[in-house]
Amino acid sequence: MRIESICVHGAKDPHNRTGAVCVPIYQSATFAHPGVGASTGFDYSRTQNPTREPLERLVASLEGARHAVAFSCGMAALDAAAGLFEPGDHILATSDLYGGSVRLFSRLALRSGLEVEYLDTNDRGLLQKRLRKNTRAIFIETPSNPMMNITDIRAAREIAGPERLLIVDNTFLTPVLQRPLELGADMVLHSGTKYLSGHNDTLSGFLALNDAETAERLRVIVKTVGSGLSPFDSFLVIRGLKTLHLRMERSERNARVLCAFLEKHRKVKKVYYPGLLGHPGHSIQKKQAAGFGAMISFEVDSEETAQAVLEKVELILFAESLGGPETLITYPLLQTHSEVPEETRLALGINGRLLRLSAGIEDPEDLVADLERALG
Ligand SMILES: *Cc1c(COP(=O)(O)O)cnc(C)c1O
Repeated sequence: MRIESICVHGAKDPHNRTGAVCVPIYQSATFAHPGVGASTGFDYSRTQNPTREPLERLVASLEGARHAVAFSCGMAALDAAAGLFEPGDHILATSDLYGGSVRLFSRLALRSGLEVEYLDTNDRGLLQKRLRKNTRAIFIETPSNPMMNITDIRAAREIAGPERLLIVDNTFLTPVLQRPLELGADMVLHSGTKYLSGHNDTLSGFLALNDAETAERLRVIVKTVGSGLSPFDSFLVIRGLKTLHLRMERSERNARVLCAFLEKHRKVKKVYYPGLLGHPGHSIQKKQAAGFGAMISFEVDSEETAQAVLEKVELILFAESLGGPETLITYPLLQTHSEVPEETRLALGINGRLLRLSAGIEDPEDLVADLERALG
């Protein structure tokens, strides 16, 4: 099956005897055993649940992975992935990662001595130079957040070599546009809160991978700490995934219309979108992905303009998050990246004039009209 059909038909309830078209919500904490030492395959929902399991299979097949594990949110997934490492291990990561990922890594550094070093992961020479004996993984976000920097996944694989894990946060593009495992990554991370569930109504997170032993270690973490996705939320993500391909197509189309508008606006100084020919990562993105996504960052002429836009938009919502039907605009300085040290932030280009926009699926002309009015 192609990816569009997997989105629609990929979640099946193997216990279905009614012909129900949708996987039901198995809202049960525990499961009765047919006999001593016997199990239906389900014992207790912290370990596994019959709504969560078809979702995990669906996400695995979308990413072309053998295994996927569903978590209560993206950060829970990242925390589980970080749990695969030992104190003293070293990880190289993209410099402008999602702010929550940076916060998690700095907490872990204090608690367990895991050391994460940030750099431009698309600078091959630098990446090679920073590898240490105790470097166990390279963690990439591409496009990155919020500067939309692109990392060549194949090149990172080559540099990581066979002994280090290559982990890719694929939240921004989803498997509809980019499948990192096929490009050599070992593990894919998702905040399913974003495009996968796609309706701004539930949190979720995923890890997708091929290695059975690592998948088992992740399942033990889920079973131990209870970070698995609930049956109801699993149902919502399955429902959302049915339209993933349509939503990605439409939001990317809207993003292009918005980019064209922004590029011409006198108060907009710079537009960061990998779909633009002038974007430094354009050709890599074209090679490794089937599209450019629907996330745009742009810099306006002053902090006053930036803040006026946030206050004046009406159809577009001033809210954190991305990947839903609603077009959202965020202020990375005060929201997603407030905890990134100022010096680092400014070096990356995250200043008070920068806005980040997640194009939704509304009418593009309505979106342009709203932005035009808000920019003044
Ligand atoms: C939102 C997000 C996360 C965190 O996911 P949650 O579901 O909010 O916990 C991680 N990475 C990226 C790129 C994100 O956008």
